[in-house]
Amino acid sequence: MQIDRLSLENFRNYTRQELFFDPVCNVIFGENAQGKTNLLEAVQYLSCGRSNRAKSDRELIGFQAENAVLVGNIFSRNRDFVLRTELYREKRRKLWVNKVPSKTASDLSQVFQTVFFCPEDLLLIRDGAAARRRFLDNALCQLRPRYAAALAAYRRAYAHKTRILRDCEEQRDLLDTLPEFNERLIQSGAVVIHYRAQFTKKLAAIAAANHADCSGGKEHLSVVYKTVSTIQNPLEDIPALTQQFRAHMEAHRSAELASRLCLSGPHKDDLLVEIDGRDAKTYSSQGQTRTAALSLKLAEREIYQNVTGEAPILLLDDVLSELDPRRQEFVLNRIAGGQVFITCCEDDRLPVLLGGRVFHIFAGQATE
Ligand code: ATP
Ligand code: MG
Repeated sequence: MQIDRLSLENFRNYTRQELFFDPVCNVIFGENAQGKTNLLEAVQYLSCGRSNRAKSDRELIGFQAENAVLVGNIFSRNRDFVLRTELYREKRRKLWVNKVPSKTASDLSQVFQTVFFCPEDLLLIRDGAAARRRFLDNALCQLRPRYAAALAAYRRAYAHKTRILRDCEEQRDLLDTLPEFNERLIQSGAVVIHYRAQFTKKLAAIAAANHADCSGGKEHLSVVYKTVSTIQNPLEDIPALTQQFRAHMEAHRSAELASRLCLSGPHKDDLLVEIDGRDAKTYSSQGQTRTAALSLKLAEREIYQNVTGEAPILLLDDVLSELDPRRQEFVLNRIAGGQVFITCCEDDRLPVLLGGRVFHIFAGQATE
């Protein structure tokens, strides 16, 4: 799959821009704060309807503008697609796939996928569990529409249940609706757990191989999925997981009512990442952290490729500048096999190394 053309209107610091990309490699270079990351962000947004650094769509609209328009011409599954999104300050965004209005971002993910790697991804290893859940959710929402639907249902049920538990003291009759939302939480939660467990199993194997390669076989990376304690084997089928999750919820019912909080469920899931048997969050060095994060992201890309038969577009933001030559070489060897966008600083030797199309970005303007 590839993006052949991108047109931006009032997206971040791009007022008006049209770009035609190379099917293999696109190097984006320029000084700081010119719009390199913004360009990758636009490609990411078109692939999944979200950006990993913007909290709301409004942030993406040019400071002086009322709305932003992104259009991408994508070639995927042997067909041409035109994706269009319009973002507004005051109302909901609009999405189109081949001129057909679309309600959900999963429709975009059906067309093409991206894997974004940026320096902040080190937080994937270092931060709390929320960062790792975000990684799982972002990967799975693009890959599995059923997961995206289950996650949305889970979040809705969770929000309702939280409100019921919070307000039930004042409004006793709210408790009558609790079983219904609990059941929704259980049904959707079991699907979420199932997909996360399956994905982590594949991820762990590929990421471990990547990490071993990158560290010259010196280090072993292990990734284990952690979910609610009573589920012994999250790889079981959905009916079995539903039953176990229901039993878990029943066992926690009185504790939840007493604390008036949703105590446990996949909203607390985590990935335990270890290097040579030690928790990477606590003990890994900077280099190890970087290698582990990169190994996970490259594994994500490989899983997409195995599932869809096509490599997702790889967006690498400022990654090489942080790596030593050995690891740089590892990355450059690994990125072949799909369309890649890679940003680098003004005087980097990367454009010469990689070939493909080279774009120079200056103040929200790209020139080849
Ligand atoms: P660096 O090398 O430092 O990573 P960069 O080229 O990746 O820089 P970007 O992150 O793409 O830089 O941002 C470029 C500029 O876009 C910033 O100066 C920022 O102020 C500006 N910018 C961000 N959001 C908006 C917006 N909504 N409207 C206009 N400009 C914006
Ligand atoms: Mg940047």
